[in-house]
Amino acid sequence: MLYTRSSQLFAEASEVLPGGVNSPVRAFKSVGGTPIFAKEAKGAYLYDEDGNRLIDYINSWGPMLLGHAYEPVVTAVIEKAKKGTSFGMPTELETEIAKLALSMVPGIEKIRFVNSGTEACMSAVRLARGFTNRDKIIKFAGCYHGHSDSFLIQAGSGAITFGAPNSPGVTQGTAKDTLLARYNDLDNVRSLFEANKNEIAAIIIEPVAGNMGCVPPQEGFLKGLRALCDEHGALLIFDEVMTGFRLSKGGAQELFGINADIVTFGKVIGGGLPVGAFAARNEIMNYLAPLGPVYQAGTLSGNPLAMAAGLAMLQDINTNEGLFERLEQKTAYLEKGIRKQLEKAGVVFTINRVGSMISVHFDERPVVDFDTAKNGDNESFKKFFHGLLQEGIYIAPSAYETWFITDALTYEDLDFTIAAVGKVAATL
Ligand code: PMP
Repeated sequence: MLYTRSSQLFAEASEVLPGGVNSPVRAFKSVGGTPIFAKEAKGAYLYDEDGNRLIDYINSWGPMLLGHAYEPVVTAVIEKAKKGTSFGMPTELETEIAKLALSMVPGIEKIRFVNSGTEACMSAVRLARGFTNRDKIIKFAGCYHGHSDSFLIQAGSGAITFGAPNSPGVTQGTAKDTLLARYNDLDNVRSLFEANKNEIAAIIIEPVAGNMGCVPPQEGFLKGLRALCDEHGALLIFDEVMTGFRLSKGGAQELFGINADIVTFGKVIGGGLPVGAFAARNEIMNYLAPLGPVYQAGTLSGNPLAMAAGLAMLQDINTNEGLFERLEQKTAYLEKGIRKQLEKAGVVFTINRVGSMISVHFDERPVVDFDTAKNGDNESFKKFFHGLLQEGIYIAPSAYETWFITDALTYEDLDFTIAAVGKVAATL
């Protein structure tokens, strides 16, 4: 496959956009080569500017659970757009999507809509701090909660109590309030609580990590966090930006039977338009302006196009018979096929998967946290990525990302992908 026009477009873009992109991971920096420029997409397929058709395993990094240009979502947006694209006033639509989201997700009584996952997580932490009157938060190395200052704290050894910024521009003052813990290590979290008595407002966690590849929570880990938060008067924030409306109707909370105090959403909840949200029980949400003292606002929050897309998406998910079983079956089928091909080729690997989140790590040791995620062989990943791209298969251009499976994929697409993995594996 040729990517001539994409290369030209990237060169042009690089003149006017930093790195040629508006979000860094799109730039193919960790795999090399030039990014593919999308022209259009439908169902499970992307069509690029060179006329190639790619089977898409990124799906806009998660939102397109039902495939690209999903008809009910597209129609809802077009119809809404004809009636005005933004009012800065309340609309009935916002209540409608709020009611539906609250009915699907356990343990939440009020929800506020924002414009991105970053905003949702940033606001959730502010709310937790305001509610508990405490400053510090615990975040896990390898988890990503958006690009807000408090979250851009580098992974370090578990012994590090105070974080160091990994992005210039994040002040030491901010970094010192983010305590780093090892994913799947309850003792580590317990010792942070002991060393910071009555100072920790909240734990924020991806209940299934998807930003160091896919890393599932080990048995008892989330339950243990719930107990530690209760014991120490801290709030548990589940960042369900990836997992929400993907792992089940009620997200990871429902899947694992554990209730968080605050839940954040993004991706699927907007059906591909810029939407995020955070939600909690009344006692917590009533702390938010205009009811309470914690301030949070947005000119375009609850935007009618975004809400129309989100509502159409959630309505479909809510009534889509067998959706989550199909996603599980398709992803399990893909996992089995990939395993077989990699084993046949003698490639060293680990596959992690929860529902329709899956990732391939090029190391045979279990991947349970950021340190073990970093063991993967990046050179193999690069070859794997570019090999698949040549076969017309688009996975995330980084070893630390999850594949997002869409219901639009057919078993033919999956068989094609598995065969391509076999071809590429033979070259590794
Ligand atoms: N939380 C998680 C778990 C995410 O995966 C992401 C984005 N990948 C975010 C938050 C930030 O969302 P956004 O990019 O919409 O700001």
